[in-house]
Amino acid sequence: MANIPASKYSELTVARPITGGCLCGGLRYECTGKPLIAFHCQCQHCQKLSSTGHGSYILLSKSETKVTGNFSIWSYTADSGNTTTKHFCPKCGTQVFSLTSGHQNNFIASASSLDDKSLFLPSLVLFAKHASPWDQIDNSLPRYSGGA
Ligand SMILES: [Zn+2]
Ligand SMILES: [Zn+2]
Repeated sequence: MANIPASKYSELTVARPITGGCLCGGLRYECTGKPLIAFHCQCQHCQKLSSTGHGSYILLSKSETKVTGNFSIWSYTADSGNTTTKHFCPKCGTQVFSLTSGHQNNFIASASSLDDKSLFLPSLVLFAKHASPWDQIDNSLPRYSGGA
């Protein structure tokens, strides 16, 4: 991503490891690194996947994140041309994290998967051009019509 606002994590001390997982507890992750950035995405994939107007994600470092448990995957070509692979718990169906071919060290965890919800500090909104009229996100956040 280019021209993105500063991450809210750069000046922050974050207790680690960062842990999270699915609804049933079968698929879990643990990250020893610091979060990179957090954002909302209003693209049509995220709308369908989230059952509401957007997805919310926190970017972790893949090389510092360990996954335990089984997962199912679904891959698609994103607007950027990159292949995005969504990882779901095969038992409860929760979307826990995504990987993208464009940024191989990004572990894109769903904000709702975090054990500590206060860790989600979004800096921007992506794909605002697809926003549903009823999906209002914090107006102080910079919005990008597409990907950043
Ligand atoms: Zn589960
Ligand atoms: Zn999206």
